[in-house]
Amino acid sequence: MKESKWAIGIDIGGTKINIAAVNDQGQVMKCMHLVTQVKAGVDSIINDIATVCRKLCTEYAQPPLGVGIGMAGQVDSHTGFVHLAPNLYWVDVPLGEKLEKLLGLPVSITNDVRASTIAEWKYGAGKGCDNFVCCFIGTGVGGGIVSNGLLLEGFSNSAGEIGHIAVEMDGLPCTCGRTGCLETYVGGLAMSKRVQEWIAAHPEISHGLGDPQHITAKILVEGFRKNDPVSVAIIGKARKALVAGMKGVVNVLNPERLILGGGIVYGLPELIDWLREDIKHAALAIATKKLEIVPAALGSDSGLIGASALILEKPPAKRYEPNASKLRKT
Ligand SMILES: [Zn+2]
Repeated sequence: MKESKWAIGIDIGGTKINIAAVNDQGQVMKCMHLVTQVKAGVDSIINDIATVCRKLCTEYAQPPLGVGIGMAGQVDSHTGFVHLAPNLYWVDVPLGEKLEKLLGLPVSITNDVRASTIAEWKYGAGKGCDNFVCCFIGTGVGGGIVSNGLLLEGFSNSAGEIGHIAVEMDGLPCTCGRTGCLETYVGGLAMSKRVQEWIAAHPEISHGLGDPQHITAKILVEGFRKNDPVSVAIIGKARKALVAGMKGVVNVLNPERLILGGGIVYGLPELIDWLREDIKHAALAIATKKLEIVPAALGSDSGLIGASALILEKPPAKRYEPNASKLRKT
């Protein structure tokens, strides 16, 4: 296959790894999948990734410009070092260095939600926009911030942790070890837990959600559409929490656009309409007057596409490196 300028984009998750050839228009040309063999250990997973990358390379006349990786966890994009990836049980893994040695190609790494933010920025709902915030609501809640054309990393590389904005004083316990975080009210996993707690606390109210232990976010949304009282209560609370969280984001960062994505938003697109309506009454008038709230455009491929953009943007592997905080959009 002929494709002169392309890169490999990789999205490493706790259950599967997607590895794609992406062209310089941000289009996925071919995508291959791997099951994440967490128990096999770090080197085995990295070897598996390298094998698939080599296989992908044989399909194109030109070699790729490099490999971009997005993965959940604490990742140092300057060194390619993975400090902590809880889904994979990785601690202090020099992923970039190991993969570069195996493939002989430059490797750039960022976290998964920043990769998705970059993808939306370059090719999706954030295209042409210098001030926007992405909020991805799936199993958990994450985000990315572009302010005045800079992708924000923060002092300790933790900028964009939108899921852990406090929406309730002394609120529910969160996976981060603190309490009252946005994620504990709108994250898919947390909402399933909220339903179980609600049912346990209100045994007198009947519901049609089946076994509480097996209630997923999808079942919850289906229940909401059938006017199930438990689902309506939980999703009503999620709506309020989202407004509270985004109020903080909008007031502090004053974005031009708020981009919402992730499985919960795709399953419950009403969240966007509700937020458009409610934020006007919650946040500062000056910050909401021209604010646009839009759905993410790239869906589940955004991680791959954004990861490949780490490489494809000129100069290759330098645009976001060595100091991504200095990144300026062209
Ligand atoms: Zn938290």
